[in-house]
Amino acid sequence: MVLAQLGGSISRAIQQMSNATIIDEKVLNECLNEITRALLQADVQFKLVREMQTNIKKIVNLDDLAAGHNKRRIIQQAIFNELCKMLDPGKPSFTPKKGKPSVIMFVGLQGSGKTTTCTKYAYYHQKKGWKPALVCADTFRAGAFDQLKQNATKAKIPFYGSYTESDPVRIAVEGVETFKKENCDLIIVDTSGRHKQEAALFEEMRQVSEATKPDLVIFVMDSSIGQAAFDQAQAFKQSVSVGAVIVTKMDGHAKGGGALSAVAATKSPVIFIGTGEHMDEFEVFDVKPFVSRLLGMGDWSGFMDKIHEVVPMDQQPELLQKLSEGNFTLRIMYEQFQNILKMGPIGQVFSMLPGFSSELMPKGREKESQAKIKRYMTMMDSMTNEELDSSNPKLMNDSRIMRIARGSGRQVREVMEMLEEYKRLAKIWSKMKGLKIPKKGEMSALSRNMNA
Ligand code: GDP
Repeated sequence: MVLAQLGGSISRAIQQMSNATIIDEKVLNECLNEITRALLQADVQFKLVREMQTNIKKIVNLDDLAAGHNKRRIIQQAIFNELCKMLDPGKPSFTPKKGKPSVIMFVGLQGSGKTTTCTKYAYYHQKKGWKPALVCADTFRAGAFDQLKQNATKAKIPFYGSYTESDPVRIAVEGVETFKKENCDLIIVDTSGRHKQEAALFEEMRQVSEATKPDLVIFVMDSSIGQAAFDQAQAFKQSVSVGAVIVTKMDGHAKGGGALSAVAATKSPVIFIGTGEHMDEFEVFDVKPFVSRLLGMGDWSGFMDKIHEVVPMDQQPELLQKLSEGNFTLRIMYEQFQNILKMGPIGQVFSMLPGFSSELMPKGREKESQAKIKRYMTMMDSMTNEELDSSNPKLMNDSRIMRIARGSGRQVREVMEMLEEYKRLAKIWSKMKGLKIPKKGEMSALSRNMNA
């Protein structure tokens, strides 16, 4: 993702500024110019970049800062906040409610990934227990219905469309009515892709919207659209009341800055991003963790909070240090299990790491998860210090596994299952390797600031 380059350029600019002995007007200007250049290169609209620069300068008035203030921190924070502000229009989008029918209409340019995204959106909700349905109101593009039908069949999602009917309004209305009767709670209407010059298609989109009265209109945008994003997004917003944005193809070589512009143009939040062609390559979008990652800070805002909640104060720096070294040993797993059991509600730190909560600690089955963790700990009690402190998976050979099983009165199969769990976790935690750990004392301030 080229957005990572933008993040890299911005964090380099901040780092350079931090290296300066004295931070004065000149150093600040240089840093802001660097950031401006990076944002423009990433296709963020010029006007937005200028606004951001002015805002930062307004907030960071070096003359007014009393001596003793941490100027670097203030500047870094201002940049973080401004980027968040660009991506966060300040009002959440409509959130559909499970069990209550909502009509969601998808609009966007042809080729933006709209039809694919409709299915991804439906599939995402279906996995969470919703009853989604897809309506193909795209009568303009030959093959649109077949594509939707194919996607929907693969995901086992009911669909509605027609090969013969040419009036999209009619299909949309019939589809919505059909699925309302079938008690579907998420009725997704896919419309024809259009270009901002195509006045007739815009009129058609307006009519579909008027007839189906969607609870939410989602504007789907290809992240590679570049500087044109602002105008395109605005054109859609002027015809229908866009309430949310989904940015697709974030996995490609796109510069991605267009996403920022689309948010500004539609004053609507980005709710998901598409990260591949497959059905499950689709992620919920959260502004603060995204900007944290963009600035190379890792996902500290959420992660640090969880660490503070769950891990005792005196263990925090040590744990973070070990993780940044990429050393996730069985002993760390043991200690974290201890913390989790002490905490009561299980899995708070780990729940934000992909794959952990759903597999080891599924929601609603806390008791079972707790029993499982206790079982794992009993087995680990039969391990030697060498085994607990090693991060080398090869150490655990058959004879060691058999000894642990005997010692803990458990089956070999169970020991192997526990070691598999460890390996899976170690893989996830290895992503923490190389993360910059804030210095002692800065830690809580940083996470507080991030969440301010
Ligand atoms: P529509 O014309 O807007 O309905 O676009 P389609 O849904 O037909 O998608 C156009 C192309 O983009 C297809 O080849 C999709 O597989 C591809 N596509 C959609 N979303 C993504 C994404 O997030 N990443 C990648 N790499 N390709 C995507």
